[in-house]
Amino acid sequence: MSHPIAAISTGSQISAIGILRLSGDGCIAAAGQVFAPIHAPSLAQVPDRKLVMGSLRDSQGRVIDQCMAVVSRAPHSYTGEDTVEFHCHGSPAVLAAGLEALYLAGVRPAQRGEFTKRAFLNGKLDLTQAEAVIDLIEAETADAAANAAGQVGGVLQKKLAPIYDDLTNLCSHFHAVLDYPDEDIEDFGLANYSGTLRQDAKALYAMLQTYSQGRILRHGVAAAIVGRPNVGKSSLLNALAGYDRVIVTDIPGTTRDTVEESIMLGSTRLRLIDTAGIRDTADTVEAMGVQRSKVAMESADLILFVCDGSQPLTPEDHAILDLCTERENAIALINKSDCGQVVQPCDLPFTTVIPICAKDGEGLDQLADVVDAMFQGQTPCDGSILTNPRQFDACRRAYESLLQAMQGLQLGMTPDAVLTDVEQAMYAMGEVTGATVREDITARIFQRFCVGK
Ligand code: GDP
Repeated sequence: MSHPIAAISTGSQISAIGILRLSGDGCIAAAGQVFAPIHAPSLAQVPDRKLVMGSLRDSQGRVIDQCMAVVSRAPHSYTGEDTVEFHCHGSPAVLAAGLEALYLAGVRPAQRGEFTKRAFLNGKLDLTQAEAVIDLIEAETADAAANAAGQVGGVLQKKLAPIYDDLTNLCSHFHAVLDYPDEDIEDFGLANYSGTLRQDAKALYAMLQTYSQGRILRHGVAAAIVGRPNVGKSSLLNALAGYDRVIVTDIPGTTRDTVEESIMLGSTRLRLIDTAGIRDTADTVEAMGVQRSKVAMESADLILFVCDGSQPLTPEDHAILDLCTERENAIALINKSDCGQVVQPCDLPFTTVIPICAKDGEGLDQLADVVDAMFQGQTPCDGSILTNPRQFDACRRAYESLLQAMQGLQLGMTPDAVLTDVEQAMYAMGEVTGATVREDITARIFQRFCVGK
């Protein structure tokens, strides 16, 4: 028995259409108290999943909207329960009045993510699909949306669930033999399962490798702008952001902390991180900023090294260059091209060197092309890769436990000792799909949703 819940699913702005959504036992009867269909005696008698026109009444019984309603009866609905949606005119006042009338009819306000949580609890979605719903809502690029849509459709679930199933079969076979010695159950031989363990570990390893691409797809490319003070790092961030996000002065050491800004460059979403200029400094605050810059650099997917092309390179420039050269994705930008070019591309040990002028934006189109070529078109956006840190962490733990189990098998350890690791791997995989996840963790996951989803 699930209490009927209701919420506005379309936000609080004035819009052409606003949707009131209900789910739970008795929600069709409650909705029937506030809505009268034109061509049916009552809402309870309208056909399933068919839009019907009618009038919506407020708590005083006044008609407040002529709108559409659609009833989806359990189990054929998003939540798996009886649901009703009213497609109203998108006036916040209409929606609020409709909602109030529904509360008086016995419906309670939905909590954040409660519709999707009910869908999960009713087996309509596993946790990979449910978490992808919020990624789909929050997607900032078409690629991120396509990927999340694939995950909602179960692409990732279909890859990961069989691993959980394999491990469950293995553990249950062992326990069945142990617990029911008199039953006619095929003997448990751990060695018979070594192929399955190897295959699952291989699949998990391949999946873990996709996460660096997945993280970029979900959050954008973390791009650290590095260089000594006063070369134009903040000016570059402002030019790329299209507004004055960071204070620019000719006083070295003005940017004392890392500053982040999410922007589109060409077709790539970048999480730009303007770092404090890296140099040896006695100023405590600036030194902390420099330390953070080094950390930002280590975790960045892309390094944008900036130097002042109008002056010869300094020992400080060279010290930072040394930090960059080992990096796979690093681009050198020779800034201040409007002031003459003392520094030449051949002076810099980078594959890609672009002269730019952060002041007037020259060279930034070329930078966009290079970044697109680096990051676009390499990642499948069909939902088949790991994008979620929680899922990545659980898969990583499962993989490590499987490796230990395989090692134990090779060393000839007893089945019960090896099975401890297999069980841990099984629980970790269950956390991914939601089969074994703790209640407090699911609660936290659905808290991230908006009301009405
Ligand atoms: P940061 O310390 O590396 O962040 O450097 P800023 O962005 O604060 O710039 C330092 C100084 O260089 C400021 O006076 C900027 O106006 C100037 N500057 C930055 N980019 C350019 C450029 O492309 N051309 C010229 N002429 N000056 C620039």
